Amino acid sequence: MNFHTVREARQWASLFLEKHHREKQVADFLLIHHLQWNRARLLADLREPFPPERADDFVRDVQAHAIDGVPLQHLTGKESFYGRIFKVNDQVLIPRPETEELVEIVLKQIDGINQPLTVVDVGTGSGVIAITLKKERPDLDVLATDISEGALQVARKNASLHQAEVCFYQGNYLKPLIDKNIRADVVISNPPYIPLHQKDQLSEVVKNYDPSLALFGGEDGLDAYREIIRQLSAVKKKKTCLAFEIGYDQGEAVAGMIKGSFPESSPVIEKDINGKDRIVYSWIG
Ligand code: GLN
Repeated sequence: MNFHTVREARQWASLFLEKHHREKQVADFLLIHHLQWNRARLLADLREPFPPERADDFVRDVQAHAIDGVPLQHLTGKESFYGRIFKVNDQVLIPRPETEELVEIVLKQIDGINQPLTVVDVGTGSGVIAITLKKERPDLDVLATDISEGALQVARKNASLHQAEVCFYQGNYLKPLIDKNIRADVVISNPPYIPLHQKDQLSEVVKNYDPSLALFGGEDGLDAYREIIRQLSAVKKKKTCLAFEIGYDQGEAVAGMIKGSFPESSPVIEKDINGKDRIVYSWIG
């Protein structure tokens, strides 16, 4: 396919996407990606010729998204999180804006604490939580774990891209810390929490392209919380802040699990920007 102008490429892509019931705005993101322009230039220079050598790749990506539902982030290889760009691929969950709020809450909880703190991001995926915390609070000692070697490769790349000093360990939830006898002041995690039986309700984009390992938390979706809370006794200090992202209907269950294992704690359930329960956190003494 060939386009005379950027405008023509944009029109073709928008229509093609609409025909396949996809958001037509994806056309602009892909144009920006393939032309290596910014948004302002795209809107100002629509009359410029479309570089013929870029046409095939652009068309291929528009079709991949429109026809197969390949997420835009897999086509561009990136997603932004907390104001920074992170590399992503099919080995990791694409970072979601809700998770920025989890980071925000933890930063608030440790605001003003000046003694050295060890933080662990459990199931780090692309590394967004761990790396963001290190960049926002360079004084933190940040560790991160993931069971997936493929995910850790992405996380390590992101850490070096952002020059964030984070120690990555492969293993099941907190197991690497237990093995090394490391204790943490903060345990933060956005673990897989979708119940297996809800698989069919997920959008095809999520179901087909986010790794299952990053999505599903067993039959009731709570397996990861159970295991992390069980492991916590061996990792917690005299006082440790535990902060989880949760599914919209898991607040009471997860808060109950924390209270059950640590009766002195007072778990707090927080809502996300859409007014849904999304975070549970608690200081555990
Ligand atoms: N911690 C990563 C994120 O929040 C990955 C989470 C996951 O794979 N469940 O994006």
